[in-house]
Amino acid sequence: MEFSEFELDEKLLNAIGDLQYKKPTKVQEAVIPEALDGHDILAESPTGTGKTAAYILPALQHLIDFPSKKLGLARILVLVPTRELALQVSEHARDLGKYLKGLSVGTLIGGVEHEEQLPVLTGKTDIVIATPGRLIEYLRKEMFDIRAVEILVLDEADRMLDMGFIDNVREISRAAYRREQTFLFSATLEGEILNRFANTVLKDPVEFHVDAPRSEHKKINQYKYYADSLEHKTLLLEALLRDKAVEKALVFVKTREGLQNLISRLDRDGFSFSYLRGEMDQEKRLEGLRKFTDNTVRILVATDVAARGIDITDITHVINFDMPRTADVYVHRIGRTARAGRKGTAINLVEAHDVPMLEKVQRYTGDIQDTRVIDSLRPKNRVPEFSGKKKKSRDDGGKDRAKNSKKGSFGGEKPEKKPHSKDRLRDKKNKGKPDFAAKRAKKALRNEAAPDETRNGEES
Ligand code: AMP
Repeated sequence: MEFSEFELDEKLLNAIGDLQYKKPTKVQEAVIPEALDGHDILAESPTGTGKTAAYILPALQHLIDFPSKKLGLARILVLVPTRELALQVSEHARDLGKYLKGLSVGTLIGGVEHEEQLPVLTGKTDIVIATPGRLIEYLRKEMFDIRAVEILVLDEADRMLDMGFIDNVREISRAAYRREQTFLFSATLEGEILNRFANTVLKDPVEFHVDAPRSEHKKINQYKYYADSLEHKTLLLEALLRDKAVEKALVFVKTREGLQNLISRLDRDGFSFSYLRGEMDQEKRLEGLRKFTDNTVRILVATDVAARGIDITDITHVINFDMPRTADVYVHRIGRTARAGRKGTAINLVEAHDVPMLEKVQRYTGDIQDTRVIDSLRPKNRVPEFSGKKKKSRDDGGKDRAKNSKKGSFGGEKPEKKPHSKDRLRDKKNKGKPDFAAKRAKKALRNEAAPDETRNGEES
């Protein structure tokens, strides 16, 4: 599925393009159409699944479709458990809404002086991202007017409940009784309290379950660094290994030759490390392992074959100097960290030729990896396209390859920007813009069976 198949405005599609999102994630595919249709949403969807964009995009589309008559009050309210998440979500909303003229996104969070938040309370703010504790304070002091809220989003609802915010969220939900829609996202939908709570705040929701990314179960953070060349990749690795946060690292290389080259270089540059290679003298192998296990060295370089069967509980980082041959080997490799309930980090050093494998890995694990850069070692070449297709057919006579190689290993030249197709479902159906009255009418029809004015059991 493509983003252009959703009934999303060009401005949003362009912002999605700028973020280099090529395809919707599972949760986006499931949630966006239903949310655009005016339904309430109940989604089991952990972090890392793209859930933020799954609710921000329909919310932004709503603002586009129904321009505000009265200026000023917040129309979209997102509740999140922590201030960090609030800041992250607002950044995401600004990125996705960057082409919406005059869009204003504000946060109301604890730990920030009241004066700093005054502009959000008194100025024009379309979207407010808030933590429940701070918002309830403003509500009770009548400093925040919630009456104009049309969409209420409860993000990481399970965490908000765990953190004891349930009564606050209920109170906020009741105060926002004029809203049109409610979206509830939670890492898990298990538990009676959560389900009862969901019943009181949602009206006839469409329910989705999106699996946690495979590595999520093990709390492995995954990042990628793009490299222009083998030399660049080596410099990146060395910079990472010098970082104190990288306490104990297992570095994977694909071949014995590659291993030999890398260890010579690390040796030359003054690193202490052990290494494991296939067909290694057993005594040497055990000695290398022992040094790593008892922390005499904090770096172990190994090939897949040589690393088979090693079980060390305190590896903090798995670094893929070379990407593995298959996605399941990848999962196996990164499983060497985050053992015994600890957290771990997996880092991928990616050259242009590794991109198809990285893409496979992301599909297989269901994880989307954030890109990181080291300031002094930024890649010069453009970040490669995630095409899902092989780059060039073999019978191009090598001409294009030669052309690309001049521009650097990522192809250099900007690809032609595919114009966003206007072939949207809305147009196909000859629907025009969604009509909010129709949206409401549809909802009313659905609710005829339960003509109760209030949200299931919620006092207004
Ligand atoms: P979230 O689950 O919302 O915290 O998103 C996790 C990461 O996925 C964030 O870094 C997003 O920028 C990124 N992301 C969200 N949607 C997509 C997409 N369709 N394609 C690629 N990356 C995405």
